Amino acid sequence: MNLIMLGAPGSGKGTMAKFISSDFSLPHISTGDIFRKNIKDGTELGNKVKSILDAGELVPDELTIDLVKDRLKEADCKNGFILDGFPRTLVQAEALEKFASIDSVILIDLPFEVIEERLSGRRSCPSCGEVYHTSTYKETNCQKCDASLIQREDDKLETVRARLKVYEKQTSPLIEFYKNKIFKVEGKGTPEETYAPVKKFLKEMK
Ligand SMILES: [Zn+2]
Repeated sequence: MNLIMLGAPGSGKGTMAKFISSDFSLPHISTGDIFRKNIKDGTELGNKVKSILDAGELVPDELTIDLVKDRLKEADCKNGFILDGFPRTLVQAEALEKFASIDSVILIDLPFEVIEERLSGRRSCPSCGEVYHTSTYKETNCQKCDASLIQREDDKLETVRARLKVYEKQTSPLIEFYKNKIFKVEGKGTPEETYAPVKKFLKEMK
């Protein structure tokens, strides 16, 4: 099964991809994770990507396409894969067609207001990395290490709104491009509730 995971930032698509990966033994290929790891390890690719991001620019399609193309050649992808964070643009989707055939595209549907509430309520511990949500955690300090919690730049409402705008602009053409392959799931519930219909669908597809 060759799958793509689509969903807005904050929709829980990474979690969903992890569930699928473990239940169906498919490698979870997250371009964001690959970039982050390369940056952390200081590889040639990582340094290149870092200088692009530091300049406030987007990673060019070509670089991302090559990266995914190489990754899909690895042995663990022979029975399928789940792509997360790729394709992000129509150019990437068209390129992907040339080296992989996609069976299904899982789309998590969630109103933007819900995502805004989810993300902007996040508080992170700068010291141990623990993440809390203001709806369930009212303290100002970390439960584990007592450091003062912060709101990450990424989680500020205006940043969230800007990211959602970019997502909408980039994703609508993808939804149109994959319209015959999309399996849409409601993302309002818990991760387990969201995953249940996806699991059933993939079991039947197998
Ligand atoms: Zn902490």
